[in-house]
Amino acid sequence: MADKINVTVWNEFRHEVKPGIIQTIYPKGIHETIASFLRKQPDMEVRTAWLDKDKEHGLGGDVLDKTDVLIWWGHGAHDAVKDDIVEEIQGRVLNGMGFIALHSSHLSKPFKKLMGTSGSLVWREKAEKSHVWCVNPYHPIARGIPQVIELAHEEMYGEFFDIPTPDDQVFISWFEGGEVFRSGNCWHRGKGKIFYFQPGHETFPIYHNPEIQAVITNAVRWCKFEGSTDTRLIGTCPNSNFTLNPLSDPNKREEDYDF
Ligand code: ZN
Repeated sequence: MADKINVTVWNEFRHEVKPGIIQTIYPKGIHETIASFLRKQPDMEVRTAWLDKDKEHGLGGDVLDKTDVLIWWGHGAHDAVKDDIVEEIQGRVLNGMGFIALHSSHLSKPFKKLMGTSGSLVWREKAEKSHVWCVNPYHPIARGIPQVIELAHEEMYGEFFDIPTPDDQVFISWFEGGEVFRSGNCWHRGKGKIFYFQPGHETFPIYHNPEIQAVITNAVRWCKFEGSTDTRLIGTCPNSNFTLNPLSDPNKREEDYDF
């Protein structure tokens, strides 16, 4: 069997430590719920990290070295994530680490850094019905996913979503109030692949939904870098002073050409 995909599930983990509905839904944290369904995959090796785990938010040492795909869930404490960690994540993505931003991570520092845009959108917290439509069934993330995932309750996220035009659009969501939203979007940055997936408001049991779990599982596999690992000269902008085929005289002047 090929090498396993090393997945790190990162969560802000501030909501779930307080008694209430969120703790009831995710008693061990959103990261543990996501990690537990990924751990059932024979091709995945899964670890978790969270904001207050240590000074590096659980991402120091060799954790990122051993991460093929980083999953990110953040909400109210985006600013508490240290900028040097964000820089490190961006560098890793450019060098091939996959990055999956979930739900309110549209405003997380790593996502905004990778997108180069504000990541803003409109929202409404009203426990609305949501239909997550698969609009790209040929995409690997859509493998085995039904045409529509029906969620009984979700927070509304609506357009305009300030993101670069996605390289691939896999899902568009409809909300009971009438809005639509680009809810499953793919980008490439350098060697890295990025997926944003909207479902996952913390007061609803979204990550317990098997179809949502299947999307995230597929996204991990899609985000794993599969290209050439030869990175010689990439990023160094080298002068190419030799040629494979002989070229004409570089000193030839314009008036020497026949038109
Ligand atoms: Zn939310």
